[in-house]
Amino acid sequence: MGGRKKARTIGELKASSYKPVSVKQEMRRNLIAAIKKKKAIFPGIVGYDDTVIPQLENAVISGQDIIFLGERGQAKSRIMRAMVHLLDEEIPVIKGCEINDSPLTPICKQCRDRVAEEGDATEIAWLPRRERYGEKLATPDIAIADLIGDVDPIKVAEGKYLSSELTIHYGLIPRTNRGIFCINELPDLAERLQVGLFNLMEERDIQIRGYRIRLPLDIFLVASANPEDYTNRGRIITPLKDRFGAQVRTHYPATIEDEIAIMEMERRQFDGDEIESYTPQYMKEIVAEVTHLGRRSPDINQRSGVSVRISIGNYETIISNAIRRAVMRGEKLAVPRISDLPYIQASTGSKIELEGFEETKEGKVIDDLTKKAVLNVFNRYYRLSELETLITQFSEGFSVEVSDMMKSNSYVRNVKEIIGLAETIRIVTESERPEVIASAAEFILEGLHVNKRLNKTRSEGKTIYRH
Ligand SMILES: [Zn+2]
Repeated sequence: MGGRKKARTIGELKASSYKPVSVKQEMRRNLIAAIKKKKAIFPGIVGYDDTVIPQLENAVISGQDIIFLGERGQAKSRIMRAMVHLLDEEIPVIKGCEINDSPLTPICKQCRDRVAEEGDATEIAWLPRRERYGEKLATPDIAIADLIGDVDPIKVAEGKYLSSELTIHYGLIPRTNRGIFCINELPDLAERLQVGLFNLMEERDIQIRGYRIRLPLDIFLVASANPEDYTNRGRIITPLKDRFGAQVRTHYPATIEDEIAIMEMERRQFDGDEIESYTPQYMKEIVAEVTHLGRRSPDINQRSGVSVRISIGNYETIISNAIRRAVMRGEKLAVPRISDLPYIQASTGSKIELEGFEETKEGKVIDDLTKKAVLNVFNRYYRLSELETLITQFSEGFSVEVSDMMKSNSYVRNVKEIIGLAETIRIVTESERPEVIASAAEFILEGLHVNKRLNKTRSEGKTIYRH
């Protein structure tokens, strides 16, 4: 509304340039304006620029309700919430109305009565866009009353209801009138609620306790579902399924770069740490690679998916172990190393489902994914044929001991003793800081091990690399 004084009554609103539009018209108009200005419409949504976003935009321009189909951890909730940015900053509503009635076309009985009585003097309020979004996770125990509404049974019995409509307790959807309403996991919604939802959206009436009440709501309906549940016959009533004009398939980050961008954006960060942390690029790549391999693993249930949240959690875990080491060893910089990777068991295990019921296998599955990830990332940085000098020294009896709690300086000593290691390290870092050197040294040793050029034995919390 710019710098102009906002209308406070219906009369003032009528005198202003305000023109009422439906929520779909409003979102469409704002989207087209944003595209024209080349403005980022969904900030913080990574990797969907050429896939999900164009489809979403077409649906908004078409005024189609949308269902997002995708496995967990594909930013479905984030993108649905981001649609709020397509709404006007604020809209006028009749003050005190429970269902955000438009001042010029009120639909609830209270407001209609009020406008009839007070006319242009009826007070209005301005509703900010963040209050025009509602969402609900579909669970079998949701009642019609939660989603749509209920009436006071005593008043109905007294015969006060229906002629007056005054006793309706509106549910979540009517309360999101003139906004965006999202239902997560739509197939889990009980059939009678699906019928209720359909009637509300299509017939524009609600049925409560057998009574039919007209309620022409204005809503942009969005839903999400797992693709398999959605295509499963009988899980969604056909008329409701037909109501969604657009089915948009979400996906996991297509590239390691996108996965890393999300990890960086989403990881929890705390202010005021005395210890600085730095994660080398190859460690980020290993974390992202574990997840990408997990998404192709036959040992993992792909229907439940391998969420981006696993990458984020694992990234947080390796940084935390590095911080713990830095605190214990009195170092200033926390740099994750290969020996921090076993700790990702904790942040991965809770988020995947294995095929079959062998829970004891979980540790091995994660361990194998980690090894494969190190192998793939290492081989992107190094060629074995260029590392022969290094390998030869081990075959002449050299061995190196590492551990997640070992001081970084002891690695620096080893690096000096092994001919060519310093140069090999320089391929991944230019830093001279012992914490960074230690991490790079472990990356190379483990890389040689997973390439079967070095043996690795574990004893008393330490790992020894030797021929
Ligand atoms: Zn009202």
